[in-house]
Amino acid sequence: MKVFLLILCMNFAWGKAMPDHFDGKRFFNPRHNNEKSFFDLLKWKFTSKATEWPVSVKNKDYSAPVLPEGKKANFTFINHATFLVQIQGLTFITDPVYSKRVSPFTFAGPARVREPGVAFDDLPAIDVVLISHNHYDHLDLETLKNLDAKFHPLFIVPLKVREFLLKEGLQNVVELDWWKEQKVKDTTVIFTPSLHWSSRSPWDKFETLWGSFMVKAPDFSFYFAGDTGYDDHFRDIKMRLGSPDVALLPIGAYEPRWFMKLHHMNPAESVQAHKDLGAGISFPMHFGTFQLTDEGIDEPVTDLRKALGDVKNFDILDQGEGRLF
Ligand code: ZN
Ligand code: ZN
Repeated sequence: MKVFLLILCMNFAWGKAMPDHFDGKRFFNPRHNNEKSFFDLLKWKFTSKATEWPVSVKNKDYSAPVLPEGKKANFTFINHATFLVQIQGLTFITDPVYSKRVSPFTFAGPARVREPGVAFDDLPAIDVVLISHNHYDHLDLETLKNLDAKFHPLFIVPLKVREFLLKEGLQNVVELDWWKEQKVKDTTVIFTPSLHWSSRSPWDKFETLWGSFMVKAPDFSFYFAGDTGYDDHFRDIKMRLGSPDVALLPIGAYEPRWFMKLHHMNPAESVQAHKDLGAGISFPMHFGTFQLTDEGIDEPVTDLRKALGDVKNFDILDQGEGRLF
């Protein structure tokens, strides 16, 4: 009986200590098992055909991003999931990617078809770098090292990513679990869930956490969704943290659906996410720079326009284009 009680107590203590998304070695999504096998990957590659992208696309010209006095915020779409967010007193960059390829190799893997909308040399001083997860199109080590060398920013990353970045020589790195927060001056950065996964090789799948961010400054808030399938977490986030003034939502890398649905939203799901969050305005991201999946380069934006219906506060920015608040 005593042993039984002891086991019961141990389980209780263990259950309390373990989050609902970590089994001691790997993280998981509490509501979905979205792990795909090598067989699934082969099935995708052999059963569907990717729409071909152009090799190169030219960006329109926009002036360098500035936040004038008296304005609350400036959001500039750089490329893929990279946004520059300037609020008074703090400048953020999300999942910054400036490399030619998003791949473990410099000679192979998805290559960019357009230049970043803001040149690296034109970036203003960066205070905080937000990293949603460790996939190559979100954690671009070369860019992070260049940012660290030039600006010495604070890197806020998911659980288990800190050690990797410290080993690579980055200095100021904080890692967060879901719903945990980091104060930066008078602004609070909260790491929030997403429906996704992680890996940088076939041997480390799900070993580091993934997620999204809610950033709350005294008079402005924004939400950065990272990579995610559609799920209840948008409603949870609104319920626990309130609606953001601005949401940055992914709309690309969604075909074929049978493979991608629990990893990436399609544009219609992003519109639903925008509604679930009750965002003041949303801007789409994660399209138009790297071909990761089967849809054509323009499909995410075309499908988003169709999905919007009478939704007015979901605006598409060009790479390099900014929006002042
Ligand atoms: Zn990803
Ligand atoms: Zn991605």
